[in-house]
Amino acid sequence: MHPNVNVIDHPLIAHKLSLMRDKTTPSVLFRQLLREISLLLGYELLRDLPIELRAIETPVGPMNAPFLKGKKLVFVPILRAGLGLVDGLLELVPSARIGHVGLYRDPETLSAVEYYCKLPDDVGERLTVAVDPMLATGNSLNAAISRLKDCGAQDIRAVCLLAAPEGIAAVTEAHADVKIYTAAVDERLNDHGYIVPGLGDAGDRMYGTK
Ligand code: URA
Repeated sequence: MHPNVNVIDHPLIAHKLSLMRDKTTPSVLFRQLLREISLLLGYELLRDLPIELRAIETPVGPMNAPFLKGKKLVFVPILRAGLGLVDGLLELVPSARIGHVGLYRDPETLSAVEYYCKLPDDVGERLTVAVDPMLATGNSLNAAISRLKDCGAQDIRAVCLLAAPEGIAAVTEAHADVKIYTAAVDERLNDHGYIVPGLGDAGDRMYGTK
């Protein structure tokens, strides 16, 4: 595995992901599982956040207690499926900002076409997390990361649910400074750019569209 890729291997994530993969799982449960997994992914994604010690008094006595050092964050879901991971991440870090990048995949070329972008002005000062459940060809994530860099982001990582080897290769090659956190790496892409075995179209499964 590429050193920039962190596969978060945990029985709770594996179990929930298997439920999500099952094609009989309805949208309501799919969304709930995605949210639950986002909490577990976020735990590892943010493991190295800086902390500082502050003097406090517990009811029993004084101590120097660890607190988050105040690193500012922005989560940037790639619309629309990225939205499914954001609520959980925001629950972990309620003070984080949320940016949005809207991209769709051209069905012919599979290249990413941007239709929306809104980011905080101070994105350059924030740990910037690109959020997309499915790292397939890598075209969308690469386009989103390039856009984040154009807007000044300097400290970028990406979190996804499932990755294909092709997507990992594309993103690690184009953006060697970006670490990728994923719950699993599947076998390959099919001819339509879907991850195999994957879970289908994450957006459609979340929202019940086709
Ligand atoms: N996007 C999805 O939603 N699913 C895939 O398998 C690939 C891209």
